[in-house]
Amino acid sequence: MSNAVYLDYAATTPVDPAVVDAMVCHLGPEGTFANPASRSHLYGWLAEEAVESARRQVADLLNADPREVVWTSGATEANNLALKGVLDACGGGHVITGATEHKAVLDACGWLETKGHAVTYLKPQSNGQISPESVAAALRDDTVLVSVMHANNETGVINDIAVIGGVCRERGVLFHTDAAQSVGKLPLDVKNLPVDLVSVCAHKVYGPKGIGALYVRRSPDVKVAAQIHGGGHERGMRSGTLATHQIVGMGEAFALAGSLKDEEGPRICALRDRLWRGIAALGGVSVNGEGAARLPGHLNVAFEGVDGEMLLTAMNGVAVSSGSACTSASLEPSYVLKAMGVTDALAHGSIRFSVGRFTSPEDIERAISSVVDAVNRLRTVSA
Ligand SMILES: *Cc1c(COP(=O)(O)O)cnc(C)c1O
Repeated sequence: MSNAVYLDYAATTPVDPAVVDAMVCHLGPEGTFANPASRSHLYGWLAEEAVESARRQVADLLNADPREVVWTSGATEANNLALKGVLDACGGGHVITGATEHKAVLDACGWLETKGHAVTYLKPQSNGQISPESVAAALRDDTVLVSVMHANNETGVINDIAVIGGVCRERGVLFHTDAAQSVGKLPLDVKNLPVDLVSVCAHKVYGPKGIGALYVRRSPDVKVAAQIHGGGHERGMRSGTLATHQIVGMGEAFALAGSLKDEEGPRICALRDRLWRGIAALGGVSVNGEGAARLPGHLNVAFEGVDGEMLLTAMNGVAVSSGSACTSASLEPSYVLKAMGVTDALAHGSIRFSVGRFTSPEDIERAISSVVDAVNRLRTVSA
C-alpha cells in the first residue's frame, strides 16, 4: 500500500483490529451468521442476542435506552430518516438547518422543499458556529424540526447543541443533530441534552462502513415514519434484515470509544497541535474555524498563495482532503468555508488534515516536512 501518512480520519477511519476480530465471529458457518429475525432456532436467537448486545453498547455511549436506537446503513440514512420521517409523521411544516451541514442533511432538506415544505438555511458565524440566537430568530409558528450538526466534518467546529436544543424545546420544536463526527470524541449524553434525534455511524470511530443508527427519543415519544418498507423491523421504523457483523462491529467500536475517551482525545489533540505549530512556521497560513471549539483531531488550514489541488498533488507524502471527501470531486471551493465568509482564493487554498487513533508522533513530523516542502516549492514557483 501507499506509504503516505494517513491524515484523513474525518473521511473515514480504519477498522480497529479488536473490532475486526469481533466482526469475523459473525460471518462463517461456525459463527453467529443466522438471521437475527429467525425466531424458530438457536442460530437465530444467538444472532439476535449479538444484535441486542451491540444495541446496548451503542445506547451506553449516548446514555440512551437501547429501545431508542434504530439501525440504519449509516449517518446518511439516519439523517434522511430523521428529516423525512419526522416531516412525514407530523404532516409537514417548516424546517431550520445550517448552511454548513453535511450534504446528507442539505440534500434531504432540498428534497423536502420539492415536496412543498419550507426550509430555512442559517448562515454560520465567521468561526463556523451556528448561533443559538439565529436559531431562535428563525423559529416560526409552523416550525416542526431544527437540524443542526454537533461538529462539522470539514472544520471540526462544534456547535452548542445544548443551548440550541434548549431554544427548540422551549418552543415545542423537535431537535435533530448529526453527530457522525463527534460521537465517541465528545460527550453526548441524551438523558441530559435537549435532543430528540441523533444520527451516528460506525466508520468515523474505527468501526465498519455501511452501518449507523438513529437515536429516537421515547419520552416524550418522537414519531418517525418509515422511509424503507418491508417487514417492519426496528419497531416499524426501518425494515431490512439486520447486518449482524456490521452491527456487532459498530457496538464494539462504540464500546472501545467509550473506554478510550479520557486518554484518546488529549493525545490526538496534542498531535494535531504539534502539526499546526509545524505548519504555522511557514507563515501565511490560518486555521478555518479559529476561535471556535473544535474536535481534537481536525485541522483545516488555509494556505495563502497556494492552490489546494496543486498542494494535494505536491504533498505526495500525506493523504488528506481538500474540503470534505464527499465534495472534493467537484472543483467548486468548499460550501462550508464559503458560508463562513472565507474568500474563494483562500477556500481554494484550504486543506483538511485529520489526526486519529493510529497516528504516531513520527507521522506528524513526516507530514510537517512534506507540507512545508510542498508549500515552499509552490510559493517559489508562483512568486
Ligand atoms: C460521514 C458523515 C456523514 C455520512 O455518514 P455515512 O455513514 O458515511 O453515510 C454524515 N454527516 C457527517 C457530519 C459526516 O461526517
